[in-house]
Amino acid sequence: MSAARFPPSRDRPRSLTILGATGSIGRNTLALVAERPELYCVDVLTAGRNAELLAQLAVRHRARCAVVADARAYRTLKDHLAGTGIEVAAGAEAIVEAARRPTDWVMAAIVGMAGLAPTLAALERGAIVAIANKEPLVSAGELMLAAARRGGAVLLPVDSEHNAIWQALGDTPRDAIERLILTASGGPFRTWSLEEMAQATPAQAVAHPNWQMGAKISVDSATMMNKGLEIIEAHRLFGVPEARIEVVLHPQSIVHGLVALSDGSLLAQLAAPDMRIPIAHTLGWPERLTTRAPRLDLATIGRLDFEPPSEHRFPALGLARRALRRGGAAPTILNAANEVAVGAFLAGRIGFLDIVRTVEQVVESLPNGPTHSLEEVLDRDREARAKAEMIIARLSSYNR
Ligand code: NAD
Ligand code: MG
Repeated sequence: MSAARFPPSRDRPRSLTILGATGSIGRNTLALVAERPELYCVDVLTAGRNAELLAQLAVRHRARCAVVADARAYRTLKDHLAGTGIEVAAGAEAIVEAARRPTDWVMAAIVGMAGLAPTLAALERGAIVAIANKEPLVSAGELMLAAARRGGAVLLPVDSEHNAIWQALGDTPRDAIERLILTASGGPFRTWSLEEMAQATPAQAVAHPNWQMGAKISVDSATMMNKGLEIIEAHRLFGVPEARIEVVLHPQSIVHGLVALSDGSLLAQLAAPDMRIPIAHTLGWPERLTTRAPRLDLATIGRLDFEPPSEHRFPALGLARRALRRGGAAPTILNAANEVAVGAFLAGRIGFLDIVRTVEQVVESLPNGPTHSLEEVLDRDREARAKAEMIIARLSSYNR
């Protein structure tokens, strides 16, 4: 995120790869791109399963290549794009291949660890990588930063809190940073008791008060594991130790992130809760785009509230902090167990409070240790998923 090594050229549009194009972040990115066709050309679009939507987006945005992860969706994608001249491929390896195509800018917006391999490929070839996909940063952050250094890539944070901190930091000398502060809306259950949360349904958990997001991050916001993952993400991106990364509840989601400096200044970025704003910041970087996102009128908003989070009702925060302090494989294990547990909750197999309980049990039961290579990270990720599955199978047999 250092100096502007990639000046946007006025005579050549910036070529784009959008990993996870059919998702919430992917579609918001494409909406911004469509407003400035003279600045951008879409090369690659990828999706997990939804071949029909991927084909529609590929045609609408004149992509050159469309790739779907699920090999069973290949035929549908191929049929929908027949006669368009758009290249078509399928499978996880084909997504990595597509991420290697030499574009200027990549949006990493796949959900979960599935985004790791393609994002690494983009970093290794030295692209500008706007990263929304926080799970690989949490799980394999050091490997990703090393890949970025090797490839000469630039990593730009899209997550609203991290994007806000990056904006607030500007060119502040790093040794003047005292604390980073991540704001949290508190999600749909901010004021719920543990007894009420025990009964929460997937539909209630994904109904976020301020943001429209994919199902996984919405559930993470409801457990506040999202904020736990974001503490780790902030540590990876800005190199600030865990003890100096704070979380404050801010139900209005207007102030997104703050930086406390050694002279007593507190710098913040404020914006409407609309992901087009941080996405536009990375899409235009190092320049600024004009967006149609809502403008803030502070007099109408009237007040901004802040309060400390409850670590008792939201134990995911403490769990993530402990994983970051332990280091080694602990964040990998935490993230993998959480992905499995959230999937099981969304599938109706376990209760809401079982998500974080499962993660805690997996973290407590597996040995920690350093992870030196991608293979080691993937091994620990697999072990944690298997362990989480075992715990969930037991829980869901009780629930029946
Ligand atoms: P989403 O569920 O709406 O979209 C996910 C995308 O990933 C889709 O295009 C899907 O097809 C694709 N995908 C899913 N599984 C895949 C697989 N196995 N292989 C390849 N592609 C696969 O999610 P989202 O809300 O857009 O979030 C994407 C990422 O951005 C997540 O890591 C999330 O934490 C992060 N993020 C999202 C927001 C937000 O406002 N939505 C904000 C901050 C960070
Ligand atoms: Mg966030």
